[in-house]
Amino acid sequence: MTLPKSLVEGYRRFLRDRHAPDRGRYRQLAELGQAPSAMIIACCDARVDVAAIFDAEAGDLFILRNVANLVPPYEPEGMYHGTSAAIEFAVLALQVPHIIVLGHSHCGGVAAYREKVRDKVPAQGFIARWLTLLDNLRVLEADIFTYGDEVAFELAAIRSSLVQLRSFPFVRKREEAGLLSLHGLHFDLASGSLIGLDEADGSFVGLSGA
Ligand SMILES: [Zn+2]
Repeated sequence: MTLPKSLVEGYRRFLRDRHAPDRGRYRQLAELGQAPSAMIIACCDARVDVAAIFDAEAGDLFILRNVANLVPPYEPEGMYHGTSAAIEFAVLALQVPHIIVLGHSHCGGVAAYREKVRDKVPAQGFIARWLTLLDNLRVLEADIFTYGDEVAFELAAIRSSLVQLRSFPFVRKREEAGLLSLHGLHFDLASGSLIGLDEADGSFVGLSGA
């Protein structure tokens, strides 16, 4: 087995600088199990470092990453639903109090769909099928005016994922019981700014940090 050198060196630094000084906490996590404060549904994009964005430690966040941070509809008779399985585990087993859909700027998945750039992936393949979740998105004129076409489409995808989350009966039930909150966030790679969906009026606003 020949791992890339950068990974081997990175692992050694992790063991020395982070795991060793925090061994008690890791042991506790191993013994007591996880109790994350939130589930994050983010994109696979290598530039979206979820733990870094929220300055989170091991055990803090239950992170699911897929192409373009999408949530499929509730399909109980479906096949191999990795995303739905993770949502079910987070909500029913871990009982997370928050689910955050974290979109981002320059999203390759969203761009690929918009521009119909399919030359690098098979037309009947997994990505093409997955991205049909972006069919019929409602992109708001106000978002296009404020953020431009590309980001407006990414924001619409985040709203769509929240709608799909609520198609899961157990998500809706816990939300209605006041035990679960859903959030939509969009991270800008270049500036680092984070905007959040205000579901009262449907617009995205800068994070207050409250
Ligand atoms: Zn992306």
